[in-house]
Amino acid sequence: METTPPLSRAQILQSIKDFLDESSPAKPRQCRHCGDAMRFIDSNFLLRGTTLNWNVSLPFCGNCDREILENLPRPETIH
Ligand SMILES: [Zn+2]
Repeated sequence: METTPPLSRAQILQSIKDFLDESSPAKPRQCRHCGDAMRFIDSNFLLRGTTLNWNVSLPFCGNCDREILENLPRPETIH
C-alpha cells in the first residue's frame, strides 16, 4: 500500500519562495485609496530557523502609509 510522503522541509520552503516570486510581477503601481504612485521598500525576509533569506519589494503609499515610513529603521532603503 502506497502512502503519500509528507512534504519535505525543502519543498515547503520552495513553495513559500515560489509564492513570493510569483507575487512580485503583480506589484500595484498606484494606490487603491488615493491613486498616488506606489513606492517600494526593499525588505529582507529571513525564514526563522533557517539560513534562507531573500529580498522582496513591498509596495506602500506615501500618503496612506506614512506610518510605515516613520517606523522604518533604515529609511535609506526606500527608493
Ligand atoms: Zn494612498
